[in-house]
Amino acid sequence: MKNKAQAIRDVQYFGEEGGVVPAIDHAATSTFLNPQDMEKVFSGELQGCYLYSRHTNPTVNAFSKKVAAMEGFEAALGVASGMAAITCAVSQVMMGGGHIICSNTIYGGTYALFANILPKQNIEVTFVDPSKPEEFKKAIKKNTKLIYTEMMSNPLLAICDLKEISKIAKSKNIKLMVDNTFSPLIFTPKDFGADIVIHSCTKYISGASDLIAGVICSSEEFIGELIDVNTGCAMLYGPVMDSRVAYELFSRLDHLPVRMKAHGQAARYLVDRLNDEGIDGVTYPALSSHPDHEVFKSMQNSEYGAGAIITVDCKTSVNAIKMAKKLQEEKFGLFAVSLGFSRTLMSCPAASTSSEIPEDQRTAIGLKDGLLRLSIGIIGDNEVLADKFIAAYKDIIGT
Ligand SMILES: *Cc1c(COP(=O)(O)O)cnc(C)c1O
Repeated sequence: MKNKAQAIRDVQYFGEEGGVVPAIDHAATSTFLNPQDMEKVFSGELQGCYLYSRHTNPTVNAFSKKVAAMEGFEAALGVASGMAAITCAVSQVMMGGGHIICSNTIYGGTYALFANILPKQNIEVTFVDPSKPEEFKKAIKKNTKLIYTEMMSNPLLAICDLKEISKIAKSKNIKLMVDNTFSPLIFTPKDFGADIVIHSCTKYISGASDLIAGVICSSEEFIGELIDVNTGCAMLYGPVMDSRVAYELFSRLDHLPVRMKAHGQAARYLVDRLNDEGIDGVTYPALSSHPDHEVFKSMQNSEYGAGAIITVDCKTSVNAIKMAKKLQEEKFGLFAVSLGFSRTLMSCPAASTSSEIPEDQRTAIGLKDGLLRLSIGIIGDNEVLADKFIAAYKDIIGT
């Protein structure tokens, strides 16, 4: 299997005059020298032509090819946001209605889409515990078309056993779609049977918290369906990726491998220091105390570590908020949702990114009100930052 960093590196595009980076193709539309060719593009007879940028754009294509190489897929499609990636891919698979089996520990926005909107569009959703593959099997119905899960869940960092889940999906010809936003490079879901992998590129792939974007990776066939001029959900709902954004992400992908390693090292350092201090309630998949640690190890690309995200149980929501406030004052990090930024971000999921999940559901999946989620950045002195965190913890929560 090709090393992932090498796969990213090997996708090269040059500027028109030999520049080491491609030019941004700003054009909204492309000229045809032969009018018959345009007809053929619309009828599907002629492929590979640039027509109109909601359909295909050379810069978006360049970015998409690099992500596809990283995820080991034939093709990919950059779109306007992570939610656009989810909405378009799910709508394409579920056209005409049917049933989805979905992990119950997913991003709040995805949960809201699946719980509040899809059921009104003739799409039924059953939520199951991702750590119990047999629950996916039990939930299968005649009209089940899709299994949806997050590789590393938000914010509980549950790792789904994709090998087992994909066996179940394949045995019934059900498509398997995976949100890999929390674990680019750490996991390659395609290797374990995923048919479609999406990312919110707003997070690690951007790394700079300065844009919103998403990507869908799959077969040439499925990506082709998404941009079909008559029936493609990406083409017809229209949440396109702008070529300027595609260019930014194209160049940032080159250093994603280095950034992922650095995030993993910085997070691991803090986790180890907290452990040395006897602070418990720390969740991180690389710890042997993590409930899914063995599953994590069985699928990880180990050179990329375990990512930036750690959660610390501060016992009460009041404590969690006090911690975040103090740590922001101490310049440990920024109190903001999102993740994968070069600086540390802190949030209290129960009151923010997971608030869409009803309280009883949050309790059922173990999402405590006192949870503080940290996305550990890659800049600064790890030792100084750990000292700040430990001092704040002792001050607010005690020893
Ligand atoms: C942020 C996020 C999304 C949504 O992505 P946007 O780019 O904000 O639309 C989806 N899934 C996960 C796991 C996320 O963290």
